[in-house]
Amino acid sequence: MPSTNLPLARQTAIVTGASSGIGKACAIALGQAGANVVLDYVGNPTGAEEAAAQIRASGGQAMTVACDVSQEDQVIALFQKAVAAFGTVDILINNAGLQKDSPFVDMSVADWDLVLNVNLKGQFLCAREAIREFIRRGPRPDVSVALGKIICMSSVHEIIPWAGHANYAASKGGVDLLMKSIAQEHGHLKVRVNSIAPGAIKTPINHEAWDSPKAEKHLLQLIPYKRVGLPEDIGKLAVFLCSDDSDYIHGETIFIDGGMTLYPGFEDNG
Ligand code: NAD
Repeated sequence: MPSTNLPLARQTAIVTGASSGIGKACAIALGQAGANVVLDYVGNPTGAEEAAAQIRASGGQAMTVACDVSQEDQVIALFQKAVAAFGTVDILINNAGLQKDSPFVDMSVADWDLVLNVNLKGQFLCAREAIREFIRRGPRPDVSVALGKIICMSSVHEIIPWAGHANYAASKGGVDLLMKSIAQEHGHLKVRVNSIAPGAIKTPINHEAWDSPKAEKHLLQLIPYKRVGLPEDIGKLAVFLCSDDSDYIHGETIFIDGGMTLYPGFEDNG
């Protein structure tokens, strides 16, 4: 059993899209911070199983569940499985997401729907089930001041327009007001809701932007801090935002981007 002194001890977290990249790193970080972790995946379970094994090796508890977050029945079943295994859910990391890029005039309705269904509808479905469970279960003052915590994985593209990625940018812009509306509606219940907006993080979603020295050099022009982010950078922030140390942070988007949102084009006087 993990130490009860850990910040997320005796809490249960669902992490969506936990088989790779940011979701996998968040799952491992939350597990190492004491949470029981339910790792959602679609398709190949290998990455989620690896992360679950790592959590168990550090003394925590973890289980993997297949669930497409854009499907209501599968999301309801995901939460039912988490509650059956661990009694309740205290934390949701609304992370699953994808890109389907194309010039706007060539963008198909199928590609628009896929991105909006996973990145925005998926976050709605998971957040709704999470809050239903927080309310059903009631307060647990022995584990957290909050009734429950939700983190929506957004992107710098909730504020930076992105040519060739209109569906993705629209989905993340939507996540911003979804998160804030949920936070406004449920703050009085002590449901704490925030977003993390990463800049460029080394994961499979954007590998062509960093997996060669030439590509990475080009990417660094957009990052004043001159480092591409790592999934572990996001995992550490997720633990903080889920812990009572951040109890007064509510309805906020935390940008974690090495300064990508600082208008780097003006770095040398514009
Ligand atoms: P990734 O491709 O490694 O991870 C995305 C995960 O979502 C994958 O494990 C994938 O299987 C899962 N997924 C896709 N569709 C799903 C569905 N229908 N149901 C459940 N899971 C599904 O990429 P990542 O960078 O780790 O992305 C994680 C999140 O971070 C995404 O929301 C992404 O938009 C966001 N993000 C990433 C970056 C970055 O630079 N990597 C920057 C900003 C935001």
